[in-house]
Amino acid sequence: MNEMNDKPVAPVNFLHAIVEEDLRTGKHGGKVVTRFPPEPNGYLHIGHAKAICIDFGTALKYGGECHLRMDDTNPTKEEVEYIESIQADVRWLGFDWGKHFYFASDFFGKMYDCCAELIKKGKAYVCALSMDEWKDYRGSPPNPGKESPHRNRPVEESLRLFEEMRAGKHADGSLCVRAKIDMASSNIHLRDPVIYRILHAEHPNTGNKWCVYPTYDFAHPLEDAFEGITHSMCTLEFEVHRPLYDWVIDNLDNLPSRPRQYEFARLNLGYTVMSKRRFIELVDKKLVNGWDDPRMPTIGGIRRRGYTPEAIRNFCETIGVTKFESLTDVALLEFCVREDLNKRALRRMAVLKPLKVIIENASEVPSEVDAVNNPENESAGTRKIPFSSELYIESDDFMEVPPPKYFRLSPGKSVRIRYAGFLTCLRKEGDAIICKWSPPSAELKVKGTIHWVSAKHAVAAEVRLYDRLFTVENPMAEEGHDYKEFLNPHSLDVATAHVEPSLADVKPLAHFQFERIGYFNADPDSKPGKPVFNRTVTLKDSWAKKQKKE
Ligand code: ATP
Ligand code: MG
Repeated sequence: MNEMNDKPVAPVNFLHAIVEEDLRTGKHGGKVVTRFPPEPNGYLHIGHAKAICIDFGTALKYGGECHLRMDDTNPTKEEVEYIESIQADVRWLGFDWGKHFYFASDFFGKMYDCCAELIKKGKAYVCALSMDEWKDYRGSPPNPGKESPHRNRPVEESLRLFEEMRAGKHADGSLCVRAKIDMASSNIHLRDPVIYRILHAEHPNTGNKWCVYPTYDFAHPLEDAFEGITHSMCTLEFEVHRPLYDWVIDNLDNLPSRPRQYEFARLNLGYTVMSKRRFIELVDKKLVNGWDDPRMPTIGGIRRRGYTPEAIRNFCETIGVTKFESLTDVALLEFCVREDLNKRALRRMAVLKPLKVIIENASEVPSEVDAVNNPENESAGTRKIPFSSELYIESDDFMEVPPPKYFRLSPGKSVRIRYAGFLTCLRKEGDAIICKWSPPSAELKVKGTIHWVSAKHAVAAEVRLYDRLFTVENPMAEEGHDYKEFLNPHSLDVATAHVEPSLADVKPLAHFQFERIGYFNADPDSKPGKPVFNRTVTLKDSWAKKQKKE
C-alpha cells in the first residue's frame, strides 16, 4: 500500500481566499497582520494548535506578520506560569512572533479613553441596574427588551460616574458602562451590552492601577485595531459577537486600523475533551498525571507523547479550514503522526512479552550483527547489535500447536529473525524453546520475520502503553452523564520491556520505532541505564484502512 496515495486531500482554506482577494483589491494597503490571542488562564491544547497554524500560517504564506497577544483583560483568572508555557508551545509548533508580543492589558489606558469617547458621543452610558435586573430588562428574542432607566442619563453625569468608577468610589457590580445600541435587536449581544465593569482585583500585569476593566467584547476589537491587525480570525462561537465587534470599530474615531473578524469551525477530536476547564478538573482530581500527561490533548501532553510539530502542522493542514462544526477522527491525527515518524524515528528492537530462546548450536552464532537505523533514511546509518545464544522473542511469536497460516515459530518450523539469519524451533523445554540458528546465507524458505533481543545484553525498560482517554467518542455529549464517567480505565498500562542495549541511555523525547510494535519516545522520566518509553502510536494504520473501505 502506498501511504502517499491514501493521504486525505486537504480541503480549500476559505480564509486564504479572503486574504487573496483583499491583497488583490489592496484593502489593507497590501498588508496581512494576524494575531493569536490566548487568555493566559490555562495550558494550550491541540485545538489551539489549529488556531495557531491558521493565524501564523496565514501570515507566513502571505508575507505578513502574526502577533502573539496575551488576552489578559480578566484580572481574576490569569497566572504568569501559563504565559511562559504558551510561548514555549507556540515556538515548539515552529512559529515565531518576532518582536510582536503584546498584552491586552498594555492598552487599558487607551481602552478607557475609547469608552469615555463613546460616552461623550452619547453612545454609551453608566447603568446602575444589577446583573439580575439587567437580565430581565434585556429579555430574549423575538421579544424586544426594555430600556434601562439610566439609558438617557445626561452625558456629563455618565462621564462623572465613569471617572468615579475608575477612582474606586463604587463597589463591584454597583455600576457599569453599557453601549447604547438597540434594545429591540434580534441579536442579544447588541442589546446595550456591558463594555466596562468594576472589579476591585489585582491584575498580574497592572497590579492595582485599575479597578475598572473592559469586557471581552469591547476589548477585543480595540486590541486588534491598536495592533493594526487586518484579519482577526477566531472560532465560530464569536460569529454572533461580530456585529458588536464592528459597532465598536465603527463608532470610534482615530483608531489606527480597521480590522475584520472572520470565524472558522473549532477543532473537536474524538475520545477526548478539549477545554482548559476540563483539563484543570482532570489534573486537580488526579485523574491524569498532570497537564502534560501524554494522554492529554494539551500541547505539553502530545509533545511528551512523542507527537511532532511537523505532524501536528500537517494534521491542521489536512483537516482544512471550514465553517462546519464536526468531530475529527483521532485516527487522522495518528495517521499524520505515523507518516512523520516513519521518516524520522530510529528503528530499534524491544520485546514486550518475552519468551526465552536457547540456541543449541551456540558455538556458531556471531557476537554481533549489523542493523539498519532507518530504511526510509539512509543517512541514519547502521549500528551493531549484540547477538548471543540466548535471545528473547515475543511470546506471541511462538505457538506449540499453530493454527493454519501461522508463519512464525512452532516445533519443526523456521522463521527469519531481523538482521540475524534464521531460527528453526526444535522443541519446547520448560519456559524456553530450543532452536537451531542458521546464518542469513542459509536462505531458508520462510514467510515470517520476527524481532528479538540478546537476553544477556538486553536492558529492562519501563514502557507506558497509552490508549484513548475516554471510552466514547464524544464524552461531553452523553446526556444525563458526567464526562468523567467515561474515562477509560485502561488508558495507561505500564509494562517492562527488554530493549536492545543502544537504548540504555536515551535523550528525552527522542523518537523510536520498536520494530513490529509501534512508535515510542523516551520519556523525560528516563535515567541513565533506566530508560522509560511512551508509546506514541501503534503501527496499525486504521485511517488508511478506513479510507480504502469507503
Ligand atoms: P478553552 O475553551 O479550551 O478554554 P478558549 O477558547 O477559552 O479555550 P482562548 O485562550 O480564548 O481559549 O483561545 C485562543 C484562541 O484559540 C481563540 O482565538 C480561539 O478561537 C482559539 N481556539 C480555542 N479553542 C479552539 C479549538 N478547539 N479549535 C480551534 N481554535 C480554538
Ligand atoms: Mg476563552
